[in-house]
Amino acid sequence: QKFVYFFAAGESEGNAGMKNILGGKGANLAEMTSLGIPVPPGFTISTEICTHFYEEGGKLPDWVRPNVTAAMAKVESKIGKKFGDANDPLLVSVRSGARASMPGMMDTILNLGLNDQTVEGLAKSSNNPRFAWDSYRRFIQMYSDVVMNVNSSLLDVTMEDLKEEKHYKLDTDMTVDDLKLLVKKFKELILQMTGRSFPADPWEQLWGAITAVFHSWNTPRAITYRDLHSIPVSWGTAVNIQSMVFGNMGEDSATGVAFTRNPSTGEKAFYGEFLINAQGEDVVAGIRTPQPITKVAAAASGMLSLEEALPEAYGQLVDIYKKLETHYRDMQDIEFTIERSKLWMLQTRNGKRTAAAALKIACDMIDEKLITEEEAILRLDPQALDQLLHPTLDPKAQKTLLAKGLPASPGGVNGQIVFTSEEAVLWKEQGKKVILVRVETSPEDIAGMIAAQGIFTTRGGMTSHAAVVARGMGKCCVAGCGEVDVDYRTETMKVKGYVLKKGDVITLDGSTGEVYLGEVKTIEPKLDGTFERVMKIADQFRKLKVRTNADTPKDAQTAKNFGAEGIGLCRTEHMFFGADRIDSVREMIIADNKIDREKALAKLLPMQRDDFYQLFKIMDGLPVTIRLLDPPLHEFVPHTDEETKELAVRINTDFERLRSKVKALHEFNPMLGHRGCRLAITYPEIYIMQVRAIAEAACMMMAEGKKLSAPEIMIPLVATDKELEILRAQAEQEVKKVQVEKNIKFEYHIGTMIELPRAALTADAIAEHADFFSFGTNDLTQTTLGLSRDDSGRFLGSYVSQGILAQDPFMSIDQVGVGALVKMGVDFGRRTKPSLKIGVCGEHGGDPDSIEFFHKAGLDYVSCSPFRVPIARLAAARASL
Ligand code: PEP
Ligand code: MG
Repeated sequence: QKFVYFFAAGESEGNAGMKNILGGKGANLAEMTSLGIPVPPGFTISTEICTHFYEEGGKLPDWVRPNVTAAMAKVESKIGKKFGDANDPLLVSVRSGARASMPGMMDTILNLGLNDQTVEGLAKSSNNPRFAWDSYRRFIQMYSDVVMNVNSSLLDVTMEDLKEEKHYKLDTDMTVDDLKLLVKKFKELILQMTGRSFPADPWEQLWGAITAVFHSWNTPRAITYRDLHSIPVSWGTAVNIQSMVFGNMGEDSATGVAFTRNPSTGEKAFYGEFLINAQGEDVVAGIRTPQPITKVAAAASGMLSLEEALPEAYGQLVDIYKKLETHYRDMQDIEFTIERSKLWMLQTRNGKRTAAAALKIACDMIDEKLITEEEAILRLDPQALDQLLHPTLDPKAQKTLLAKGLPASPGGVNGQIVFTSEEAVLWKEQGKKVILVRVETSPEDIAGMIAAQGIFTTRGGMTSHAAVVARGMGKCCVAGCGEVDVDYRTETMKVKGYVLKKGDVITLDGSTGEVYLGEVKTIEPKLDGTFERVMKIADQFRKLKVRTNADTPKDAQTAKNFGAEGIGLCRTEHMFFGADRIDSVREMIIADNKIDREKALAKLLPMQRDDFYQLFKIMDGLPVTIRLLDPPLHEFVPHTDEETKELAVRINTDFERLRSKVKALHEFNPMLGHRGCRLAITYPEIYIMQVRAIAEAACMMMAEGKKLSAPEIMIPLVATDKELEILRAQAEQEVKKVQVEKNIKFEYHIGTMIELPRAALTADAIAEHADFFSFGTNDLTQTTLGLSRDDSGRFLGSYVSQGILAQDPFMSIDQVGVGALVKMGVDFGRRTKPSLKIGVCGEHGGDPDSIEFFHKAGLDYVSCSPFRVPIARLAAARASL
């Protein structure tokens, strides 16, 4: 079996299809060489070795070593230089590369193979001693940090001290002698701190670096990132060892990163940043502010573009990016180095992009005939649409501009500033909204970035860590805002005479890069043409209908604007909390007898009638499912003596009587108690009032000649067919009564929720009395797993992190367990009524994975919260492709 794969022009052993064993980077390096694109020769150690590495307790298996030495020999013969040769050494980079890209999460080492002898050889062979010594000091910094666990800031400080002493501004101001001195100091420091000398033997360096890269698969930050993106630990990382090319050889050398299209907007324009006389990490690390690649982009900033500085290399780059995009048929994120005017490609991968860019790129590529509509839909991540639906700053709001940085990731957010990732996490836990303020972020900040509303940095470009990671998360980010001075010591940010302290509020506009003082009002998003177009394409493919869960006119309207095809769940209890009626609801609850109860219900009737009328009107002929009262009654009554006293006065009753009534409603297990249809078995008049309100609202619509789809009356928490039989008969009787009174006929349906295991198991009998089913997967999950909806949050995290459950079952449906009941319910229900309409209205109706499951299970529709309607439309389309 093969574990090490060689790549070089015309003789690569891998290809882009081998991501699982070569990782994304290794597979694409091999693919690029086969396309005739200049890539420095090298080899990839497969991800399988990562597994063996951990099986052997964090040790590189001995049997891999001969494969590595053989591959190195091949690289040597390609390049015509020898690894460790004192006269003309071959230097290599060692980089991680997992199956899914994990930007900056794992380790990289450049310039490996340098020591006191080979550095002299490099100085001579390159005829550039400064370059050689600069590479050596970089190597020592990187290697000691990554492999020897030396705190990198100590070496950084040493270098900064030297620069200060000599009044240098830039790293490039340092002379050969400065660099030699630094190398000496670095080595002394490392010896002091670790008790070990810096390894001089190139092979020892290489084994150490390979080991470190494998170890970096399991650092806390890599684990956090994997958890966030659901990347399994079993995938492992590959290790890429590649001959070095140098962007730090002088003014005709450079290094850069670019996107073949704009990753923020999707605009079809080559987009990227570079630094002259610099090496790999410099651009991403934000140590110097990079320059734009194209002349057009540079014009605005007054900086020199690559197009102007190195026109020949720029021309090669343009050819290559076009070739890559045509080949991969997707927007590419590329890394390149120019060594003495010659261009080399170091990486290509499908670029991360904002949701807005993803939509635009998909539409453009359809128009360019690069991809089909199906492919476009399959490439889009439904969850990412969330970004587009996020609020933006109100253009009319009063605001005080503090500064302007780069628009790194869109959205408008405000929050209290904090300066460390730890504090962001802590404050978030205390329920605060925070903005994480950093000079620049590093992968260590990942937890804080997740916790924050938005991210702000003073250094680094559009491809900096903060920008890339925030975009991936769909989180607002303003990056590289150099006008602001951030001081970690005093925890302040200073700009234009303002001094903001920890806890002060700022607002970020991630779409313009602007930063404002205090809280600026935000507004709901408006969607552009590409969104509509993609939604229309999705609608052509999907089989599932998408409805919404809505119980206010506002939510119904929002959902309808997002394309909802009806209301799948109106939780009428939410209507009961209105200030104009909650006291009538309470009177109904505490009534001693049926007459008093009916008196209170009579006050509620006109209000409910209007509620339903409004919903019917907004939905304008689309179906509306109204669920009759569901929760246990105690949810509506006050719980403190104080509130009870006030209520007693308002409804003109005795405090003690009220208190004992409230007490009597107490249940030990209310979720399994007197709720749902059980309420109507004991107090039929509640549902009768609601049914009358629905019927009267329907008559109003008919009388006004308005469009009305047959109202769907839904009975919750049914466990037995008998319950439904009784309640259906009651409801029908009331509807007919209203129709006779008003002398108006309309169609209606009466159905039930399937949200108890017994209902699913006896769905054939239940279907005898139901015109439709709607799976209440929230309760069905709660009752199937015996897991409280309200209390399990405390321990579910451990279940997920220990792999007992793949995901929180209240977020994404437990397909094998709860899902089995869903399938059974569908199957049994349709045995009785082959055309039974079946939907789902639990939270799972808006979760892409669950939607795929519901599609396969043969449901007719999903119903979800308004903002998830577009997500559901796209997910439903993907499910059917
Ligand atoms: C359900 O149980 O899935 C459901 C939709 O009802 P509720 O969440 O209101 O209990
Ligand atoms: Mg329920």
